[in-house]
Amino acid sequence: MARDVVVVGSVNADLIVQVERHPHPGETLLGHTSSVLPGGKGANQAVAAARLGAEVALVAAVGDDVNAGIALAGLRDAGVDLDHVTAVDAPTGLAVVTLADDAENTIVVVPGANASVSPRLVDAAADLIAGARVCVVQAEIPLATVAHVARVAAAGGTRLLLNVAPAAELPTETVRAADPLVVNEHEAAILLGRRDREPADAAAELAALGVRSVVVTLGAGGVVGIEDGEAWSLPARRVDALDTTGAGDAFVGALAAGIADGLPVRQAAALATRVAAASVTRLGAQPSYPWQGDDLP
Ligand code: ADP
Repeated sequence: MARDVVVVGSVNADLIVQVERHPHPGETLLGHTSSVLPGGKGANQAVAAARLGAEVALVAAVGDDVNAGIALAGLRDAGVDLDHVTAVDAPTGLAVVTLADDAENTIVVVPGANASVSPRLVDAAADLIAGARVCVVQAEIPLATVAHVARVAAAGGTRLLLNVAPAAELPTETVRAADPLVVNEHEAAILLGRRDREPADAAAELAALGVRSVVVTLGAGGVVGIEDGEAWSLPARRVDALDTTGAGDAFVGALAAGIADGLPVRQAAALATRVAAASVTRLGAQPSYPWQGDDLP
């Protein structure tokens, strides 16, 4: 069955512990809350798009372990097609997040099975990708695979939404294949190799690399973009932000759903801005994403 959106990306279990303060090396501390939640940028984006009503399939890898079930729960619940999620001989991707009451959070990410998302797995999904309206990929899988996804999408005539998150350097030909390229301010600076640009100028410079459409997200500052040489900007929706975890992924998933629905990038970004704003009013990443028909800010 043809899909609106195929996501190639990471799947993690997020182990979240809350402590009063971070432990010193060698110290044992009592925390006061713990939870294990589904995460990973690929999974988050797939869930965000599927909850909005898009037909979504995921190409990914998990381990043959207890965390796989946790990591896939949100995807199953949202009705994402998991036929191309492979079980490999490595632990499911894990993010260990320590939230301190009065300090910075620390996060350790162990890619595990996500490192096995190979060009071969992408080739095995070539027909699925060719049949989709939009193929979405991020940089939490090997970068050689990201570059391969761009080639496979192009060969299948499928539009590529490239989200270079976390920040990474990619071949110019991969970046050029994006339509749109989606980055936050920090990721834009890494791609351009310089930090001294205003967001609108960064978007224009990225477009000047030969990219048809670019979207730069600015947190509570909203979003700037450019499509076919025409620049635009949108404010963020004003909400009481409770937890911005996964806001960028909510934005990308909604953007993909909107584009798959035939919207121009700017209109899809307007939808994505509302979906991301809804997500920051609730705790967590996937559990905070709105469903089709929910009231949006
Ligand atoms: P990332 O999490 O990748 O750094 P951003 O922080 O730029 O991404 O957030 C992505 C989008 O989420 C923003 O463009 C904005 O639309 C929305 N967003 C993020 N933080 C807020 C906030 N505090 N209030 C309203 N919308 C927000």
